[in-house]
Amino acid sequence: MSDIRAATFAGPGAPPVIGMVDRPRLGRRAALFAIGACGVSDTDLRILRGAWTGALSWPLTPGHEAACVLEEMGADLTEDSLGNPLKPGAKILIPSCVPCLRCAVCLHHPAQAARCLNPVHLRGGWADRGHVDFAEFPGARLYRLPDDMPLWLATLTEPFTTALRGLRRAQEIGHFPPGATVVIHGTGAIALLAVAAALEMGAGRAIVAGGPEDPFLRLCRQFGAEATIGANAPEETPEETPEETIGIVRETVGGLGADLVLNHGGVTADALAMLRDGGCCVDLGPSSGPLPTDFAARDLTLIGSGAQAPADVPAGIQMLNRARGRYPFLKMLTRHPLTAAGVAEAISGKALKAMLVANPDIIGP
Ligand SMILES: [Zn+2]
Repeated sequence: MSDIRAATFAGPGAPPVIGMVDRPRLGRRAALFAIGACGVSDTDLRILRGAWTGALSWPLTPGHEAACVLEEMGADLTEDSLGNPLKPGAKILIPSCVPCLRCAVCLHHPAQAARCLNPVHLRGGWADRGHVDFAEFPGARLYRLPDDMPLWLATLTEPFTTALRGLRRAQEIGHFPPGATVVIHGTGAIALLAVAAALEMGAGRAIVAGGPEDPFLRLCRQFGAEATIGANAPEETPEETPEETIGIVRETVGGLGADLVLNHGGVTADALAMLRDGGCCVDLGPSSGPLPTDFAARDLTLIGSGAQAPADVPAGIQMLNRARGRYPFLKMLTRHPLTAAGVAEAISGKALKAMLVANPDIIGP
């Protein structure tokens, strides 16, 4: 246990190298933890492609969806950010986005802390151990996970919370009533987790318009989507045009259209076209296409929702863990060992959601 094993990259496009890093001397508010597993996110892949616009210092170890077990703490780190006691052996999660606590956004709009003007992004999850000094990063948070929560499930906290926050923003303004018909428009791990989040929050019906069929739409149905529409591989059936997809969604939903559409990377105008008049669209991601000209006449509500603030995470942890027996979360994850070959396979982009497993003995059944 003298050193830390980590996957590092010399720069964009470079191959992963597994190396050893010195174990740090811990400050009074620092934590050292074993990383059970860590997700591979779209952000990681953008960084490795050289497509990330934020500041980076290479070489670096990516990974910001780590689920961990505490090994050592400084004398002054006795509680998590909610006041729960900490001891070695506790399961923990540290949100990667660290707001500065000093800028105008942090001081006046803490619910939008993901938009902090001077954020720090903690990375380094693709390793078998990690450490954070909370004296150095006062805006960093540490959340103790439920003792019975498997670490592999906790690696899904960040994408799950992103979906949960978007849906909650609609619920908070009365646009996601119990029993609502929710359409999830898009694809990827966040769109799949949005099916579970919408049903847990009381959706009457969850319908997915996206693709591809395998494994995305197949898993969406296993997660409880009533119907899935979309973008089949060209050799199966010809891909529908956006107008055809909108038509099939409206026919499937029936009545006047969907109450709520959660858009994850699809064209916003297409998402709006699936709504009933008076309906609401929550847009999670980059979008293209103009707003339709009848946007005002139809009395629609469009809400933007960018990622999640650290304060959103505890609700995500609790809901994800409580729902773990009701959705096949394990089936969406593809496991890879923390080896050069394992990391190379994990970043190939083939899996719906890849997970690097550094310590398989602690990630849970
Ligand atoms: Zn700030």
